[in-house]
Amino acid sequence: LKTFDTTFLNIDEYINHNKIIIYSKTHCPYCKQAKALLADNDYNFQVVELDKLPNGAQIQTALFERTGQKTVPNIFIHGKHIGGCSDLLDIYHDGRFYDYLDNNFQTYDYDLCVIGGGSGGISAAKEAASMNKKVALFDFVTPSQHGTVWGLGGTCVNVGCIPKKLFHRASLLNEEATTSDNFGFHMKKSFTWKTLVDNVQKYIRNLNNNYEKELEKNKIDYFNAKAVFVDKHRVKFAGEERTVSAQNFIIAVGGRPTYPDIPGAHLGITSDDLFSLNKDPGKVLLVGASYIALECAGFLNGLGYDTTVMVRSILLRGFDQDIANMIGEDLESRGVKFIRSHVPTELVAQDKENIIVKAEHTSSKEKYEEVFNTVVFAIGRTACTQDLNLNSLELPVEPNQKLVTKDEKTPVHSVYAVGDVIHNAPELTPVAIKAGKLLVKRIYRKTTEQMNYKLVPTTVFTPLEYGCIGYSETDAKATFKNVVVYHNEYVPLENALESEPRKCYAKLVCDADNGEKVLGFHVLGPNAGEITQGYALGVMLGAYKQDFDALIGIHPTCAEVFTTLSVTKESNKKLESSGC
Ligand code: FAD
Ligand code: NDP
Repeated sequence: LKTFDTTFLNIDEYINHNKIIIYSKTHCPYCKQAKALLADNDYNFQVVELDKLPNGAQIQTALFERTGQKTVPNIFIHGKHIGGCSDLLDIYHDGRFYDYLDNNFQTYDYDLCVIGGGSGGISAAKEAASMNKKVALFDFVTPSQHGTVWGLGGTCVNVGCIPKKLFHRASLLNEEATTSDNFGFHMKKSFTWKTLVDNVQKYIRNLNNNYEKELEKNKIDYFNAKAVFVDKHRVKFAGEERTVSAQNFIIAVGGRPTYPDIPGAHLGITSDDLFSLNKDPGKVLLVGASYIALECAGFLNGLGYDTTVMVRSILLRGFDQDIANMIGEDLESRGVKFIRSHVPTELVAQDKENIIVKAEHTSSKEKYEEVFNTVVFAIGRTACTQDLNLNSLELPVEPNQKLVTKDEKTPVHSVYAVGDVIHNAPELTPVAIKAGKLLVKRIYRKTTEQMNYKLVPTTVFTPLEYGCIGYSETDAKATFKNVVVYHNEYVPLENALESEPRKCYAKLVCDADNGEKVLGFHVLGPNAGEITQGYALGVMLGAYKQDFDALIGIHPTCAEVFTTLSVTKESNKKLESSGC
């Protein structure tokens, strides 16, 4: 930071010879803010403190004649008049600043071009459009290995949360129909896969149309095409020469299911195909042991299909392992079979209907073989960055093809990323939506709120749902010195008339060194997603165990169990579940 101290100033000469020049006054708070912004970011710039120069007033008048601006700071980059402090902040946040530094003052077709019309992309595009920005959105679905394609809205709407929850609902209806006998009903139980698939797909098509209408209403230009980067301000339509340019890009391309690298893998399907499968799945093998495998196992078994899960190591890595194991036991008690410590090594088509699955034990390497009608791979997802030509931006990706970002920024100033494509962020719809909105607000409204990737509530929609927020018991014990765990079993009153009602479970993980601040909230039971969403607010606001104790329960509910937890895990006391 240099202060210009000559008494004679040839304005044009100085403006044209300095990359960044600020005409300032030492006492002016806006000047201080502008100088601090540049100094904090280590940019070299010249300052002319007008109140320190004998001819300062004269210079200010000359500046007014040149720019029409009377006030300070009066800022120039490569000779171009930028304006005052708020103008500098505008160009700094929306990225034009970096172009101006490169002596690039061109304008673009769009303020923002979003690549990917899923949860994150649509939310970001709509937010920018609401600020009167000119926005383009590219969305293109590459057909799955089995030719499945879908419409606008991304994974959540088409092949994720939405169809999954409806299939979960269908399987719960079957369970309720069975237990309704105890309430005096005799419900007819017959299920047609095709009816469920057709109705779910019809509902999804409505959502696709609504998304298109919303883009139109928000004056967002929607291109149903794959975008490929040409440079940091241009993408082209894949397979064409047509390009669009934009000041900024948000990569929100999400991910697709990973296939294992084994012979015959193409015989298996993924969650991309399952919800629109045009034939009864029959006897199903799910490979994987996390969200997708266990949720699909839960509803397929609940719908009456012979269901097996092949587990490589543990269930639900990263989640509370007490509850992960309870989910395993509960699924087994419902009829789901588990092949533990195995991975598939080959799939062979026996005939049109049957697939021979060859597998081996992960340590003994002992061979295993069984025939299934449908094999679903749910072994994680790979980000869709391969076709973006990120080499043209010299943008590196991780082995899982994800982008390393800081505050959703990539190392290329005009390129941001949100959603599943970000390395080390939870792959969840509300995370993508929130991150997209906050990012756009920071770019165009100069806000400072960042996405909180830590306290994210989530739910695994197995037949007994598992909802949680915060630390698992294991992670808490690895991070904090003195952890105390309160827990209990409970039986939902709704299940009380069953001969052997399923036990549900509640757990609070607390920091004993910090007044029993709640570090983790975990619940296994019906509607755990709904329960967790409510309690998550308390945990987010920093609730302590005593706040849960002070809360009056709503009787008779499942959620009230958290107002009466008194048994610590450390006491090894036997848990007594009761209906009331
Ligand atoms: P996506 O929604 O995947 O959208 C990306 C879009 O970009 C896609 O349409 C893609 O085709 C398109 N695209 C890719 N490359 C290009 C390109 N070059 N040009 C143009 N378009 C491109 N989350 C939850 O919170 N709750 C749940 O219950 C839940 N259940 C799930 C169940 C399943 C079976 C799956 C698979 C996921 C589930 N998720 C759930 C996760 C959730 O769906 C994702 O986290 C979310 O959709 C990610 O949003 P996104 O915007 O990052 O990407
Ligand atoms: P995950 O990445 O969560 O888990 C992958 C699973 O596959 C693990 O159990 C892993 O085992 C196993 N696995 C990985 N590679 C192999 C292999 N080569 N052979 C056998 N098993 C293997 O993936 P999902 O596909 O379940 O889910 C993807 C994401 O989608 C989730 O992380 C979640 O964020 C999101 N989602 C959210 C839902 C919700 O909110 N309810 C529902 C569904 C999905 P190991 O532990 O041994 O590594």
